[in-house]
Parts: sequence; structure tokens; C-alpha cells
Amino acid sequence: MMEKLFVGGVVPLTTVDYPEHLATVVFLQGCPWRCVYCHNPLLQKFDESSALHWDDVLKVIKERSGFIEAVVFSGGEPLVQSALSQAIDEVRQLDLKVGVHTSGSFPQALSKIISKIDWIGFDVKTAFADYESITRVAGSGAKAKETLDLILASGVDFEVRMTMDKSIPLSVAVETLKNLAELGVKKVAIQKCRDKNEKEVEHPLFSDKIALDDLAERFEKFIVR
Ligand code: SF4
Repeated sequence: MMEKLFVGGVVPLTTVDYPEHLATVVFLQGCPWRCVYCHNPLLQKFDESSALHWDDVLKVIKERSGFIEAVVFSGGEPLVQSALSQAIDEVRQLDLKVGVHTSGSFPQALSKIISKIDWIGFDVKTAFADYESITRVAGSGAKAKETLDLILASGVDFEVRMTMDKSIPLSVAVETLKNLAELGVKKVAIQKCRDKNEKEVEHPLFSDKIALDDLAERFEKFIVR
């Protein structure tokens, strides 16, 4: 019998959560970090009373398996749950690709299942040395760096996403992105931060054309969202 998977929500069909694929997104509960701009605070904690049953979620996925090409596990932080591994197996049995969105807080858990993942969306918060200023958790930068090293060594297809919180100085943002290119990251998306009212919060990088052009040359794919 499968260990319980705490599912916080499902988006049956999306075009934006797995590049160039129609996908179902499954949001898992639980995250050890407390990012200053988190938009899913309700998913940070486990709540059995509101959790959806995995069997019901799998039914939704099966019903759509003729249309969708992939299932993306997002969060929260999906790697916090050990039941993720079996859920991935069940999705793969349907001949669907598997994507995982991760913040990098569980490199060891990722190392055990990375061979079963087709694509990773990896959130980079800021310079690894400054992580605590965003996540409010000591040691989070070291975990994220370990995760990046693991992803790079695995050869799995992945995209780094960086949300430009206004607290990240322009110079730190630019140096962080340059560092990612030097480490071997090929695909990056920078995205605007949104406040609690879903209003976009400006960051100086988005209006610095010289810096954006320079960064765009360093990656195979550089997306501004
Ligand atoms: S890692 Fe993601 S889910 Fe966790 S607190 Fe940060 S933004 Fe929220």
C-alpha cells in the first residue's frame, strides 16, 4: 500500500508549468522554508483534513492521459514527501513524462529519484551565500547549491527560475546569474515578484537593458517573465 501523499491541489491542464508540454500540476503540501514572498503559504504545512486523496488525483490524471503529456509535481516542496517516489512510478506507468518543481531543500531525496524525472524547474532564490535573507532558514543556501550540483551532474533537462524580490540588490542578482552560467546552467527564467495583492513588484534588473543583454548572451535560453 502506498504511503500517504499529502496533495494540496491540482491544476488539471496547464501549458506553462512544463516547457512545451501540456501538463497536469499536482501541488504537494509541506515546505521547510519560509520565503519572504511565498505565494503558497497554505502549502507550507501538512494538513490532513484538507489534503486530497492521491487515488482521486490519479483518476483525474488518467482521465486526461489522452490530452496531457506530463505531470508536474510542485508545492510547497514536493521532495519533502517520501511518497513522491511511488507517485512518480504510477505516473510513469501511464506513459507520461514527469516534471518536478523544487527549491532545492532536499538534495538527498532528489538524488534517490532523479533518474525517474524528465524535467526539473529549479528555483534559485539569490546568491547561495545570501539564501537565509529570502528563505529565513539557516543552511538553505548550501542545500540549494548541493541540489544544483546534483542536477548538473545528472544531465537531466532543467530550467532555473529566479524570482526577483526587491530585497536582492541589482549587483547580487547579476552576479548570481553570471555565476549560474559559469557553473553550467543553460536555461534561466527571471520572473517578477508579486505582492500579496498579486501586483508586480519592480526590480531594477528588468529595466537594465545592458545587464539583460549581457546575461542573455551567457545562456542558451534566457527568459524574462
Ligand atoms: S520554497 Fe517555495 S513553497 Fe517553500 S516557502 Fe519558499 S516560496 Fe514558499
